[in-house]
Amino acid sequence: MNDLKLVLIGPPGSGKGTQASRLKEKFGIPHVSSGDVLRSEVARGTDFGKQIKGFMDRGEIGPVELITSVVLDFIDRECPNGFLLDGFPRTLYQARKLDETRGVTAALYISVPEDIIVKRITGRRTCKACGAIFHVLTSPPKKEGICDACGGELMRRSDDNEETALNRIRVYKNETVPVLDFYREKGLLRTIDGDGTTDEIFSRIIEAIGQ
Ligand code: ADP
Repeated sequence: MNDLKLVLIGPPGSGKGTQASRLKEKFGIPHVSSGDVLRSEVARGTDFGKQIKGFMDRGEIGPVELITSVVLDFIDRECPNGFLLDGFPRTLYQARKLDETRGVTAALYISVPEDIIVKRITGRRTCKACGAIFHVLTSPPKKEGICDACGGELMRRSDDNEETALNRIRVYKNETVPVLDFYREKGLLRTIDGDGTTDEIFSRIIEAIGQ
């Protein structure tokens, strides 16, 4: 099972991160979130982190070739067998590079209507310590501001405000939607209805990958 090579594609706020951690738990495949890889570079203050911070705060793609090689190197280092990618590939260039290097078993597209995406994003809270994800209305923590899993402090990501969220949706439509066609043409695309509870969506994903 741990040589499954899966990519999760969907608009920002479609629940990729939440579903990825469930899939990781069930199949033991390493999960790579490109957003987390890049945020850790920013948090560590590396030269690369300084270069990409402004793009991330605005919800833009940034220097795509450089980002692609950083993320692909990370995947090669951490995932010699299978992987579960979330946030990558985000452009056709990245999809082609991944295809040339590792290939994928299936691309899981989580489809969510646009009107519910902004609400999901602006209500999202993330644990500073372990990265667990909550939502102020739909999945609040037991104690406000505190992570149920590790007791860490919950925060709102700097790009989870309405203005940046709308920009991320625009970038998604222009840059990432063509990636869906790329996998569709290869017969690798599995579309999952992403409107529902976390458990419902997880069951649909399991069904879509035939496990
Ligand atoms: P989202 O929920 O918007 O998909 P992510 O955590 O995946 O959030 O990404 C946050 C930001 O990190 C993006 O808006 C972008 O600036 C940057 N980013 C993430 N993945 C990539 C990538 N594959 N290529 C370029 N930039 C990326």
